[in-house]
Amino acid sequence: MISDVNIKVKRDLCYACGICVDRCIMDNLRLSLAPCRQACPIDMNCQGYVRLIAQDREKEAAEELRRYTPFGAILGRVCSHPCEAVCERRDTDGPVHIRALKRYLADSYPEISRHILPLAPDTGLGVAIVGSGPSGLTAAYELRQKGHRVRVLESAPEPGGLLRYGIPSFRLPEDTVKRTVATLEEMGVSFQTGKDVGQDLELDRLESEADAVILATGAGPSKKLNLPGMNLSGALQGLDLLRRVREGNAPSLGKSAIVIGGGNSAVDAALTCRRLGVAEVRMVCLEDPSQMPAFALELEEAREEGVVIDNCWGPTRLVPKENGQMEIEFSRCLSLFDDQGCFRPILEQACGLRFSTDSIVLAVGQEVKADAVPEYLLDPSTKRLAADSMTRQSLIREKIFACGDCHSGAGSVVEAMASGREAAISADRFLRGEGLHWGRGNGDGCIKEYEVDRSRAKGGKRGKLSRLAVEERTLHLEVERTLSSYEARVEAERCLSCGRAAEANRTCWYCLPCEIECPVKALEVRMPYLVR
Ligand SMILES: Cc1cc2nc3c(=O)[nH]c(=O)nc-3n(C[C@H](O)[C@H](O)[C@H](O)COP(=O)(O)OP(=O)(O)OC[C@H]3O[C@@H](n4cnc5c(N)ncnc54)[C@H](O)[C@@H]3O)c2cc1C
Ligand code: SF4
Ligand code: SF4
Repeated sequence: MISDVNIKVKRDLCYACGICVDRCIMDNLRLSLAPCRQACPIDMNCQGYVRLIAQDREKEAAEELRRYTPFGAILGRVCSHPCEAVCERRDTDGPVHIRALKRYLADSYPEISRHILPLAPDTGLGVAIVGSGPSGLTAAYELRQKGHRVRVLESAPEPGGLLRYGIPSFRLPEDTVKRTVATLEEMGVSFQTGKDVGQDLELDRLESEADAVILATGAGPSKKLNLPGMNLSGALQGLDLLRRVREGNAPSLGKSAIVIGGGNSAVDAALTCRRLGVAEVRMVCLEDPSQMPAFALELEEAREEGVVIDNCWGPTRLVPKENGQMEIEFSRCLSLFDDQGCFRPILEQACGLRFSTDSIVLAVGQEVKADAVPEYLLDPSTKRLAADSMTRQSLIREKIFACGDCHSGAGSVVEAMASGREAAISADRFLRGEGLHWGRGNGDGCIKEYEVDRSRAKGGKRGKLSRLAVEERTLHLEVERTLSSYEARVEAERCLSCGRAAEANRTCWYCLPCEIECPVKALEVRMPYLVR
């Protein structure tokens, strides 16, 4: 499919922006997507901003990033970076640090990162969004951009959802979230905090006041385990611990803590315990090391900070001890999944591991709790809003849409943002009386085929991210540092620039808007009958 017969693309210059593909009236061009971009839930042109950094065109790189999202500083810190998992360089000398480069741009060019793009003319229509986590913030941004009035209702004292009250500030500083919310406020989004929909205000009333409603209420509180002794006072829920720390109301945990769970929230809870001064912290989980859902970098940080990890154990009971401590018992986990691949751990009968501890923190996931939604709008099997899987529109009330973890179950920040964007597209179309399914799920101007030419990139291993020394780490100081401009340049030069514009259909009429509008003059139309 990738062809250069009539259209010649200079690979060194092209940064796969796709403008030429948009401009071609003959449907001749396709954008061949780099694997990093194919993997990005918000379709970010990662290759584009990486390539521009490598060419020392950093301002344009920051603008390319901003074209896709105003949340670069957040994603640059906590994105689960599915792009890096598929980066073409992963099997040679390590994937390009796409996430860290995003952070570099957002931190180095804050005025571009927070730039307000022109808003569409006011439609006079209003949307209410319930919940201000990444999905709600993204839906608010997209709908305001499209000219609607947007009101966000949030039950917590401050906006941000898990960005504000879940992820610890040593990974995502409070200021980063505040500045992003401030940008949305400057655009005209209004935030009403301390407003619990379902308690302070009924969804029915909200629905009658607004032209459309988006539910972005998250996955719910920490999942509980029905174990004997789980009601003891030293047994805490992981999300409660993290929220209390971010509210400045940390509980006292004693000298030892056992964290149950193997995901990011368990690691965050374990690292938080260490920073609260707990001398002995253990994480115990069902999974073996290769199955643990936590990011590798987070696990490395936990080990560096002295957290001991015990794999393949499941808790069975807690027993109070006379000295105020608790004893917790674990049995060997024999298998995690059943024959159908469903999560159904089987534990050995006998107790195989026993610890005495001052505190226990349960971080085994989140429980669905759709407080805002009346029972008749819920899917009885999932207990989530019954909604169309593509448009996210309620199957019962056409004005209501759902997005983020409350729609899909616990996921990641970037997935929640992608979901918020889809819900916003649907709500906007609904408000304009357009079809919600139209043009979605079909092909676009892109192909998944790409070309790798290793000769253009510089050699060298994936760089090491600079982090605070273990003894300098505190509850609030950010551990990872922003790349220096030299580090950013060296890292970006490793990119192979896998994607590019390409001729697909041989329908060229030599009309030239593609060539004229290419911002970097990377494209040349070869006219057989004309010497230029
Ligand atoms: C400890 C922890 C660490 C994580 N770390 C990462 C990470 O590093 N990278 C990553 O990609 N993902 C991470 N995640 C996952 C990520 O944070 C979530 O997937 C994401 O925040 C989901 O976004 P959301 O908008 O759907 O919901 P949330 O962020 O949960 O926000 C929902 C909001 O809705 C509000 N709300 C709920 N009910 C009501 C109501 N009735 N009325 C008004 N408001 C209401 C809540 O108060 C909350 O503010 C982490 C999760 C946890 C728990
Ligand atoms: S080498 Fe560059 S373009 Fe290719 S996948 Fe990696 S970051 Fe993307
Ligand atoms: S050829 Fe130019 S316009 Fe087309 S994708 Fe590449 S940089 Fe963009």
